[in-house]
Amino acid sequence: MLVSLLVFMGWLLLLGIVILLILMVKTLQVEGETNKIQRLLFPLVPLLIVSTAILTFDFPFKAYFLVFGELLVLIIFLLLILPNGEVITQDNPSSSGQLDERDIMFARANYQQGNENYRDYYSRNPQRKEIDDNIRSMPNLCSPGTFTYNPLDAAVADAAFVFLGDIRHLAEGEINSQKLEVESEKISLRLKGLAQYYGAKLVGITEIKPYHYYSHRGRHPEVYGEKIDKHDRYAIVFAVEMDYEIMKGAPQIQVVAESSRQYIEGAKIGMMLAYYIRQLGYHARNHMDGNYLVVAPLLAQDAGLGEIGRMGILVTEEFGPRVRLGVVTTDLPVIPDKPVDFGVQNFCIICKKCAQTCPSQAIPHGDKEKVGEIKRWKINQESCYTFWRKAGTDCGVCMSTCPYSKPNTILHKFVRFSIRRSQFARKMFLLLDDYIYGKRPLSLKKPKWMEL
Ligand code: SF4
Ligand code: SF4
Repeated sequence: MLVSLLVFMGWLLLLGIVILLILMVKTLQVEGETNKIQRLLFPLVPLLIVSTAILTFDFPFKAYFLVFGELLVLIIFLLLILPNGEVITQDNPSSSGQLDERDIMFARANYQQGNENYRDYYSRNPQRKEIDDNIRSMPNLCSPGTFTYNPLDAAVADAAFVFLGDIRHLAEGEINSQKLEVESEKISLRLKGLAQYYGAKLVGITEIKPYHYYSHRGRHPEVYGEKIDKHDRYAIVFAVEMDYEIMKGAPQIQVVAESSRQYIEGAKIGMMLAYYIRQLGYHARNHMDGNYLVVAPLLAQDAGLGEIGRMGILVTEEFGPRVRLGVVTTDLPVIPDKPVDFGVQNFCIICKKCAQTCPSQAIPHGDKEKVGEIKRWKINQESCYTFWRKAGTDCGVCMSTCPYSKPNTILHKFVRFSIRRSQFARKMFLLLDDYIYGKRPLSLKKPKWMEL
């Protein structure tokens, strides 16, 4: 009787393993990784054959085998789904102080030798002059002399950035003088719905704190040094998804085409939100590529879209870092969301895959370090950007490497659910990720139209 019950349970477990195997094969097909299927079958097929034989044939001590095998599966399952291990959260960024946009690499790369902004910046930051002069002497992104350059493809991204520059001035606009009274809860849901309707994959809201805004502008010569002192009260933050297959080609030229395409998507969604809010009679500003007054990853983190990981940018639970962010700030009264904690801090400590694959070694391998008042992983933005200028693209190797970047299939949803709470799951799934995918997924395939 006992043996029959154990055999029945064994068949159920075996059925579960077969379903899991089918899901894994399907997932690899969706991800375009069919060449990895044999790595999956190699240990699982013998395991299935041995298990079937144990369940089918009678032999001495069969009950002990069954109890041992079934207990082992049960223990592994419980360790995957029940909370275990220390929970590490990140330091509250509220004590981090304001960043100055003049210090970010994109601003510094644009200072023209000899002009007033250049003199001002390097008289205050002489230690950065030599490295910045070196970077400026290198070819620009999408330019001849970079190792991915191809004039037909480079023009795709160039055209997108020219377009983004042309629409930048639309970020702010006239406000309808007829103000409509709104209910905060309803309008918050409506704005999130509108953002999704226009293509956002994730949307959240946060109340703005001083550290969300840059202290001064720096990105364009005409606004260099302008103090940012008019702050809106709320920010609607959204993310658009970058194409998984294209990002596997990082750091090739198709990656910068994809980034610019998603900057356009972000700009479009932000414009529609801002135009809509102004139509309702409230102030709204779209913060889009090249025209941010705010630090988008910090807002996104506080709005519950994700957490800042080892690579120094936002990691979302659904798409990893494989997103572009957009922000609309407003005085329309909306309801803020809460930050999320889905285990990234714990996972990044053991993972380190982005640090291992970064071609410029810009991502730290070690612990977080103290930056101002808070502890965080600090990437070397000069090394990172120097590599961009060599490659001629915005690289994206770290983005494509991150295990969280995998498409959000049922199987990956289960993995994400487990590593939220279980240290055992983090270690086990990291080993599996290494075994199945290697250090990073890679594909040099371009979109078909780009091959023409
Ligand atoms: S974008 Fe490339 S160079 Fe920069 S940190 Fe990521 S992997 Fe390293
Ligand atoms: S690759 Fe690993 S270490 Fe890097 S951000 Fe992603 S999870 Fe963290």
